[in-house]
Amino acid sequence: MKAAVIRDSVDGYVDIKDVTLRPIKHGEALVKMEYCGLCHTDLHVAAGDFGKQPGRIIGHEGVGKVIQVADDVDNLKIGDRVSIAWFFKGCGHCEYCLTGRETLCRNVQNSGFTVDGAMAEECIVDANYAVKVPEGLDPIEATSLTCAGVTMYKALKVGETKPGQWVEVVGCGGLGNLAVQYAHNVFGAHVVAVDGNPDKLAAAKKDGAEVLINRHDGDVAEQIQKKVGGVNNAQITAVTPDAFTQSVNALRPDGKLVAVALPQGDMQLNIAKTVLDGISVQGSLVGTRQDLAETFQFGAEGLVHPIVKTRRLDEVNDIIDEMKANSIVGRMVVDFTK
Ligand SMILES: [Zn+2]
Ligand SMILES: [Zn+2]
Repeated sequence: MKAAVIRDSVDGYVDIKDVTLRPIKHGEALVKMEYCGLCHTDLHVAAGDFGKQPGRIIGHEGVGKVIQVADDVDNLKIGDRVSIAWFFKGCGHCEYCLTGRETLCRNVQNSGFTVDGAMAEECIVDANYAVKVPEGLDPIEATSLTCAGVTMYKALKVGETKPGQWVEVVGCGGLGNLAVQYAHNVFGAHVVAVDGNPDKLAAAKKDGAEVLINRHDGDVAEQIQKKVGGVNNAQITAVTPDAFTQSVNALRPDGKLVAVALPQGDMQLNIAKTVLDGISVQGSLVGTRQDLAETFQFGAEGLVHPIVKTRRLDEVNDIIDEMKANSIVGRMVVDFTK
């Protein structure tokens, strides 16, 4: 079967190769992939930014159908549509795995990084960790919900978003666009969208954002305080440390800053504001299996729609170049069904 494999030189690109997967073991299933999205995390992995993994099959935004199950598997059957997410598997018995915080497991395995991923015609999954894709959810859209969707749905939970509250979404790209949709359409919140690109702000407006602010037009936090009296939580998806520092000042008392993007460096935190206004700052990383199941269900109900476009497997290196050039709106998804 064909797969996108990290090169021996770990130069940021992949080779499309014929690969034979090992036979499945106890507790596992074999999935025939239908679609797999390409994510910036894949680019980091292919370049060795998190550690070199030559020969590894990339991909963690996969959706496909089960074609084989081990004898002891009873929660999946042949024909089930399942997802392959970045959170491939936790250890299952540590403090975090046992208390609903499994993505913080110190012995986590990640698809397309520490285990072979979904950018291939077939993929082996752990049956206990492969979240089913519900009927009614477009499998192409499901690929983006597997990564960006669950990341933002979870981050909005971490921000304790409630109906009628104001949420600031900083950065309206792949993550931010879904943050706006989940905040507005699922959590029933009002949204302030912040970006430097007018096209992305226009898209945020279509997704439900009520207040749009171009970060090049003066002090963002000051405008937010003036227009809506500050926000209850700020979701930072922009990859600049400044976005974090500025957003603290956009919060209202008891406000929460949720850090999602991963720029290098430190953020500044105004101590007086933090103390006097009871500010919280928390990081949020992808989501658990239960978060993903909920993320999918809201997609199946038509409340969120990622922007996706299908491509061929032999175009993966072209897509990598397009992503590096920042010339893509939405997500490119490799189609294995043709
Ligand atoms: Zn991803
Ligand atoms: Zn664990």
